[in-house]
Amino acid sequence: MNIILLGPPGAGKGTQAKKIQEHYKFPHISTGDILRENINNNTGLGLKAKSYMARGELVPDELLITIIKDRLSKKDCQNGFMLDGYPRTIPQADALQMILTESGEMVDVVLNIFVDDEELIKRLSGRRMCKCGASYHVIFNPPAQEDVCNLCKGKLYQRDDDKPETIRNRLNVYKKQTQPLINYYSNKKILKTIDGSKDIHQIFEEIKEELDKYDQ
Ligand code: AMP
Repeated sequence: MNIILLGPPGAGKGTQAKKIQEHYKFPHISTGDILRENINNNTGLGLKAKSYMARGELVPDELLITIIKDRLSKKDCQNGFMLDGYPRTIPQADALQMILTESGEMVDVVLNIFVDDEELIKRLSGRRMCKCGASYHVIFNPPAQEDVCNLCKGKLYQRDDDKPETIRNRLNVYKKQTQPLINYYSNKKILKTIDGSKDIHQIFEEIKEELDKYDQ
């Protein structure tokens, strides 16, 4: 089963993706994580992507399409996958469709997680990350010890693009470039909108109810 998680930054796509991965074992493909890993490793791709990401802008489509084509060709995607943060533009969605059609596949369901702007800004500005992949929130989900990861004891940090000046830009970019995908997938009758303002567990229950309708 091939799933897309759609929604603005801060909607909780990453959090739900981890829960979906644990439950259904689909590989979780986060293009943001792939790009951040490339930046940390100083690769050519990382160098190209860095300044766009720091400004809260989208990295050019050609780079993302190459990344996703390469990632989907890996063996672990043969029995389904879950995309988190891709596609973010109509050309990226068209490219995905072409890649999948070549191997006789398609996107089965697009989970569109909806949260209003005020809540997104609160969530993003309080978000704290750990290198191990765990994420926290200073108010809604604080670690047991301030700035220390519960799982690996690593020091928590704030993503550069979670700083207030960049958050606004990311939300504007989402509205202009990514939101049109809601109509794109709604027209294909594969869009399911989920209320992302509910409790994490309630949201996951709703997602499970939807995914359990499909053959895994
Ligand atoms: P995320 O971790 O999904 O919030 O992504 C962080 C940043 O990575 C975004 O603000 C973009 O700069 C870049 N990025 C991630 N995925 C994409 C994509 N599909 N297209 C363009 N840029 C992306």
